[in-house]
Amino acid sequence: MRIVRFLDEQGQIRFGDQPLGGPTDSAQLLAGSPFTDLKPTGEPTGVTKLLAPIEPSNIFCIGCNYAEHAKESGVPLPENPIIFMKPTTAATNPGDPVRIPTICRDEVDYECELAVVIGKEGRNIPEADALNHVLGYTAGNDISARVWQKHGGGGQWIRGKSFDTFCPLGPALVTADDLPDPQQLNLTTTLNGKVLQDGSTDDMIFTVAELIAFISSDTTLLPGTVIMTGTPPGVGFARDPKVWLQPGDQVTVELEKVGKLCNPVESA
Ligand code: MG
Repeated sequence: MRIVRFLDEQGQIRFGDQPLGGPTDSAQLLAGSPFTDLKPTGEPTGVTKLLAPIEPSNIFCIGCNYAEHAKESGVPLPENPIIFMKPTTAATNPGDPVRIPTICRDEVDYECELAVVIGKEGRNIPEADALNHVLGYTAGNDISARVWQKHGGGGQWIRGKSFDTFCPLGPALVTADDLPDPQQLNLTTTLNGKVLQDGSTDDMIFTVAELIAFISSDTTLLPGTVIMTGTPPGVGFARDPKVWLQPGDQVTVELEKVGKLCNPVESA
């Protein structure tokens, strides 16, 4: 199932089933919660505005999880996953603006990512059982203010990754039963119509199952936890000339089977 969360014509938050490639202004209404028992009602409904497919309970992120991106970043391949977090307040809906903070200069970058959504609480999850804890997958854009990431947070990346609107998610969540192999998905970033990242989750250093097993070591993963799994090469800071997001831009992350996550860029 390809689940969308949206506002209906009465402004109510609903869940619906919306096949990729079909109409985006309607969906088949689903009843219940994605974390318990989302069931088809057989009732069509209008979609007024798409929302991020879930409200994250936590957002874990993985740095340098693609070898070519580690190389373009000038860092060695990690021995263990590099983990950082974003506050849940950074989550942003499809179509809503990414806002460039007033304290940022030319430094705000894009990163297309496979975002894993945990459906079943777990701790010390064995790698062999890890994918059974996944509710589904969506696309994420790990917006990154590079100066604040590298120099403004005392060595911690979180500062430059945490500003409001810095975590667009969507446009839909494809359930794990419909996406049994998360390591065979193409993902791209397109900025103002130009493709700047074009990769495959096949190139991850640590797989989704390995990441879940690693992160859950003595650490509870709640339902609704989002894991941003890293980005392929082609980010703005590693390009010559460098590319920075600017007000007026349109940035689109596309994930195979999930669809296009499009956001305009504005000043804060
Ligand atoms: Mg990232």
